[in-house]
Amino acid sequence: TSYLSDRINSLSESATLKMTKLGRELAAQGINVISLSVGEPDFNTPEHVKEAAKTALDQNYTRYTPVPGYPELRKAIVDKLKNENGLDYDISQIVVSTGAKQSLSNVILTLVNPGDEVIIPTPYWVSYSEMVVLAEGKSVFIDTDIESNFKITPAQLEAAITPKTKVFMFSSPCNPTGSVYSKEELQALANVFEKHPGIFIISDEIYEHINFIDKHESIAQFPSIKDRVIIVNGFSKAFAMTGWRLGYIAASKEIAAANDKMQGQTTSGTCSIAQRAGIAAYEGGLESVNKMKEAFARRRQLVYDLLNDIPGVKTNLPEGAFYFFPEISSFFGKKDQDGNTIHNSGDLALYLLNQGHVATVDGNSFGNDNYIRLSYAASDENLKEALRRIKEALAKLA
Ligand code: PLP
Repeated sequence: TSYLSDRINSLSESATLKMTKLGRELAAQGINVISLSVGEPDFNTPEHVKEAAKTALDQNYTRYTPVPGYPELRKAIVDKLKNENGLDYDISQIVVSTGAKQSLSNVILTLVNPGDEVIIPTPYWVSYSEMVVLAEGKSVFIDTDIESNFKITPAQLEAAITPKTKVFMFSSPCNPTGSVYSKEELQALANVFEKHPGIFIISDEIYEHINFIDKHESIAQFPSIKDRVIIVNGFSKAFAMTGWRLGYIAASKEIAAANDKMQGQTTSGTCSIAQRAGIAAYEGGLESVNKMKEAFARRRQLVYDLLNDIPGVKTNLPEGAFYFFPEISSFFGKKDQDGNTIHNSGDLALYLLNQGHVATVDGNSFGNDNYIRLSYAASDENLKEALRRIKEALAKLA
C-alpha cells in the first residue's frame, strides 16, 4: 500500500506465521490439518513456573518493571550462564526483553548502520534477514547444504568478510536445520573473528537445551572475542514458554546499555508476571527440560526413519532443536492432479497443505529453496499420520 512507509513495504511477512495462519483457515473449514509449521514445544509450561506467576499476581507484581529486567531475574541469568555455560557476566551485561525476537531486533538496530553488511549463514531463521532490512543493512549470505550438514567453514566465513562487515549472526542449535557447531568448529570461526576486530557476533542460543549430541557450546567462551559476542537466549523453547514473551541478551556493558536505551524508547521492560515466572524457571533446575528433550529425541528418530522411507526425499539427522530440513528439489517440475507444476519449495509446501493437510514451511523463507522445514514438536501419533500423508501426497506428483 502506497501510503505505508518504505520500511514496512520492504518487509516480508513471516513465513512460519503465514503457514500457521493458512493451516488454521483450513482447520476452521472442518478439515483435519496437522501442523508441523510452528516452532513451539507441544508441552505445557512447568507447574512450578505457573505457580510463580500466580504468586506474582497475588503479590502485585503488576507495575512497570525496570527497562532491562528485574535485578533478581538478571541475577538468575548471570548464575545460569556461570553454572551451565562456564561464562562470567555481571548483571549490568544482561538485558531482558519481550522474547528473544525482540532481543535480536534490539541488537541489530543498535549495531547496524544503513549499508553495513550482516553475514548470515543459510539456511537461517526467517526473521534474521528481515531485521537487517529494517535496519537498512545488507544481508550477505553464506550458503550451506545437506552435504556440509548445513555448517559453514572458516574459509567460507573469511571469504564473506569485507570492510563493510559489521555483524555475523547465527544460531546453534540451528533453526531450521538442527545443526550444532562443536567446540572445535566454533574455535575455528573464532580464530577468523580474532583477525577482524570490527565484527560483532550474534550467537542465538535459544535451542541450547535441545541438543542430542553433546553439551551446549557457546562462541562466547573464547576470551579474545567474548566482548564482541552477543548471546541471545530465552525461555520459549527450554521451558515451553512461547506465549510469555521472555528473552535476553548477555553482552558487553556498552552493548547492553545501548539495548537498554533502545528498549527504553520502544517497549520498556517486559511483562512483570512473565519475569517473575522466569526467575522460577531458572531457579527450578532442568528436570522439565530434560523430560521434553527425551520426547524430542524419540520423535527425532521416528521422523528420521519415516522421512527415509519417502522416495525423492533426502534428509540428515539433525543434532539439535526440533526440526527437520529435508531436501525436496527432486519434485520440482512435477505436476499435481490438477496439472499445476511444482516450481519451488513454496509450491510444494502449499501442495502438502492442500492435498495432504499437513502444514510445513517452504525452505525459501529460510534462504534455501531446495528444502522444506518440518517441526517435530507434535505428538508421536500426529507425526506418524503427517508423514504418512506427506508420503502419499508426494507419490501422487507425476
Ligand atoms: N531465535 C530462533 C532461532 C527461533 O527459532 C526463535 C523462535 O522461533 C526465536 C529466536 C525467538 O524466540 P522468542 O521470541 O519466542 O523468545
